[in-house]
Amino acid sequence: LRSKLPDLGITIFTRMTQLAQETGAINLSQGFPDFAPPAALLDAAMRHLRDGQNQYAPMTGIASLREQVAHKIARRYGRQLDSQREVTIVPGATEAIFCAIQAVVQPGDEVILLDPSYDSYAPSVHLAGGRCVHVPLQQPDFSIDWQRLQAAFSPRTRLLIINSPHNPSGALISRADLDQLAALLRGHDAWLLSDEVYEHLVYDGQLHASVLAHDALYQRAFVVSSFGKTYHVTGWKTGYVAAPPALTDELRKVHQYVNFCGVTPLQHALADFMAAHPEHLDELPHFYQAKRDLFCQLLQPSKLRCVPAPGTYFQLADYSAIRDDLDDVAMAEWLTREAGVAAIPISVFYREPPKDLRLVRFCFAKQDLTLQQAAERLCAL
Ligand code: PMP
Ligand code: GLN
Repeated sequence: LRSKLPDLGITIFTRMTQLAQETGAINLSQGFPDFAPPAALLDAAMRHLRDGQNQYAPMTGIASLREQVAHKIARRYGRQLDSQREVTIVPGATEAIFCAIQAVVQPGDEVILLDPSYDSYAPSVHLAGGRCVHVPLQQPDFSIDWQRLQAAFSPRTRLLIINSPHNPSGALISRADLDQLAALLRGHDAWLLSDEVYEHLVYDGQLHASVLAHDALYQRAFVVSSFGKTYHVTGWKTGYVAAPPALTDELRKVHQYVNFCGVTPLQHALADFMAAHPEHLDELPHFYQAKRDLFCQLLQPSKLRCVPAPGTYFQLADYSAIRDDLDDVAMAEWLTREAGVAAIPISVFYREPPKDLRLVRFCFAKQDLTLQQAAERLCAL
């Protein structure tokens, strides 16, 4: 067998969740809530299942959910989208990313990734026959190194992928960054893929700087989001892509043969819930900020060092005062086995991890009790 992805194994999320299950560790590795989604959302899903929404949805997604997404985008980012021609509902942001990449990347094209980068980007580029050009974000704040980014562009560059709020660091791209990006892209024949799945998880009163609020960038962008993060339903694997009509057309050509459509009753439930509970989006940052603050405060007496994350539901922690002799992959395993708390190493999101990286990622999308129990174990180290 000649593997198309010879260097790949099983994802770090599967590995760490499996290890947590085998060892009985508290699982703060893979990102998902351990609490229930809103009751009204679950009720809506049950209702639609019972009422017969059990056959194929339209390939582009059901109209009411596309409309709700367009409505939200108008309200939050001030852009009026045509929900028929610019919004596509897909079974998960992972599929959205895959389809966007297949739609525009040709064999031999280059795609720029900012490392640490989410693990699905590079394999999706390779399957399209593209080549990844990795540009590391700067330490310690995971900001963009503009000189290195500019130097990474070539006549073969076809796509740049950005991710804000950023997994795994929680860092945010600012409006000024987007302006700089627009100036940089002006001279290039390259598209932009903006992974904004954590768009509603931004803290300390900051606002998410969306590509949807930026005229010049939106004209050449796929903007991807996920209902999983926003409505505490990662297992529903439902997301969307907003993109100008020409890009949407190309994306849909791929999507219709990758999966054809998303899950029908869940789309109906999400549309109902979005219409009835717009306040959910306003409450969400407070809900998660309280969890981030609780987790960081609980870790104060520990030897872990945290700089509170400005976004996402992930918190990085420096562990060098505990086991400076271990690299982060070994440390994540050690924490799982010895401390009973599973975490994610972040070097796996780099092509070339910085030397002496001593950071692991914890997911704080957990009940307060789970966070307390995990912190108790971590403080004992
Ligand atoms: N992008 C990033 C940065 C993520 O963290 C995730 C999390 N799963 C995804 C994409 C994929 O989202 P989904 O579960 O909707 O496929
Ligand atoms: N995005 C999730 C995380 O970063 C994992 C999703 C997955 O398991 N593929 O933890």
